Amino acid sequence: MFVKHLRCITCGREYPAIPQQMTCQDCEPGILDVIYDYREIKKVLTKDSLASNPDSSIWRYLPLLPIEADAIRPMLRVGGTPLYYAKKLASALGIKYLYVKDDGLNPTASLKDRASAIAVVKAGEAQAKTIACSSTGNAASSLAGNVASLADYDLNACIFVPERAPAGKVAQLLIFGATVISVQGSYESAFNLSEAAIKKYGWYNRNAAINSYLVEGKKTVVLEICEQLCWQVPDWVVFSVGDGCTIAGAYKGFYDLHRLGMIDRIPRLIGVQAAGCAPLTTAWENGNWNKVLLTAFPEDTLADSIAVGSPRNPVKALQAINHSKGLMVNVSDQEILDMQAYVGRHSGLFGEPAGVTGFAGLKKLLAQGLISPEETFVVTITGNGLKDIVNAQKAVSQPIKLAPDIDQLDQILGERGLI
Ligand SMILES: *Cc1c(COP(=O)(O)O)cnc(C)c1O
Ligand SMILES: [Zn+2]
Repeated sequence: MFVKHLRCITCGREYPAIPQQMTCQDCEPGILDVIYDYREIKKVLTKDSLASNPDSSIWRYLPLLPIEADAIRPMLRVGGTPLYYAKKLASALGIKYLYVKDDGLNPTASLKDRASAIAVVKAGEAQAKTIACSSTGNAASSLAGNVASLADYDLNACIFVPERAPAGKVAQLLIFGATVISVQGSYESAFNLSEAAIKKYGWYNRNAAINSYLVEGKKTVVLEICEQLCWQVPDWVVFSVGDGCTIAGAYKGFYDLHRLGMIDRIPRLIGVQAAGCAPLTTAWENGNWNKVLLTAFPEDTLADSIAVGSPRNPVKALQAINHSKGLMVNVSDQEILDMQAYVGRHSGLFGEPAGVTGFAGLKKLLAQGLISPEETFVVTITGNGLKDIVNAQKAVSQPIKLAPDIDQLDQILGERGLI
């Protein structure tokens, strides 16, 4: 393992990289960052070594991950998702170069698998019997799936979800055999109950903002993007933002590759929040990065995966956006729903509401003239649309209902100009 230590992003205090180390003792919230020995990594991880590595999963980036080479890993193939040059969608949006990373094609159908795979390995290192998390849905289902796929090690997943979690995601949890606790109240209440339980029972903590190892898993999405673009970085990379761990992970991935000399610059990051739950955009606009000073929002959006009223990782996320000279923007639920159908029609890709929120932000920033249509963009679909069909159905009209009668069919198709 090439990890030197963990370092507090607020005060700089260093901690040994043991699996149980979560936050800094001296700071609130005291989020830690995993610090690597890039000089040693350079000796084993190069463009050539990657080109000849047949493993298409996140483990191809092992030297840049905080786990031992011989650790017990989950069976599922996490990562290795496609990056499409989405020409039709680009033309529709009025831009030239748009690449779409479809992370809905991960084993449990969201980007969260990248973090959960690491979480499960770290829980094993910690010799934990139970791993727990609170989640709006995807972190939970990915944790449950990765735990269920683990051979040679007995681990239980105990999961706290808010009662509003979409049925598809809850079904995944139950199918994967997790203990599922549906908490009456908001995501915030689920988070607080999970923290109390983790403390009381000594469970391993998979809450991504608190557990700095998980951001390292999330960063693999941009390691893949850079490799898929043959190390030519785009101008802008867009992510939807809830807790802020994904966009913080994206920055970390670019930072690592830049330190290793594998890319020549760090692209600018765009973070997109739902207007009904936008504490990070608000903090970004006000220059208030401290968790204590954040204005908590109600979780008022149908994009459940980014409905995080009190984000746990504001400093890391906002530092990431700022260091990249990035932008933040809010979009309405209607803009998100419209985009769900728009993306589907123009690409054949189906994202859940939070999975297409990035496109809605991109569209808005183009309309505002804050980004140029001449530039190159990468947007990641962070979760699959099939996870939440109730909201998807709001985005589209009804199918044509008809008796099995060719004359009726003829009439209707005629009326619609389809024949
Ligand atoms: C978790 C999630 C996000 C946001 O990630 P954060 O780390 O919470 O900012 C976006 N989209 C989907 C589908 C997610 O599951
Ligand atoms: Zn500190």
